[in-house]
Amino acid sequence: MTNRAAEHAGPIRSCVGCRTKQPQGQLSRLAVLFDDGRPKVTYDLKRRLPGRGAYICADNPKCLARVIQKGLLARALRVSDPDLSILMSRS
Ligand SMILES: [Zn+2]
Repeated sequence: MTNRAAEHAGPIRSCVGCRTKQPQGQLSRLAVLFDDGRPKVTYDLKRRLPGRGAYICADNPKCLARVIQKGLLARALRVSDPDLSILMSRS
């Protein structure tokens, strides 16, 4: 009982940096891990992590810089003061 048409097109998600709506395949999924109490943002490359996810343009470093500078992920992921070190190490 899968919806093949929807699977083919892929769900549409908005980038948290630029708010552009895109097919999910064009975006990287970010999720939060709770290690040691502090929420840590990580790339969810397999899209299997539970919980709330946020999406960001996969190939746009400006979106990444913007979400880090403006703290947009805390709101998108509903966590306070997340550890963004994984994102920073990529840029
Ligand atoms: Zn973007």
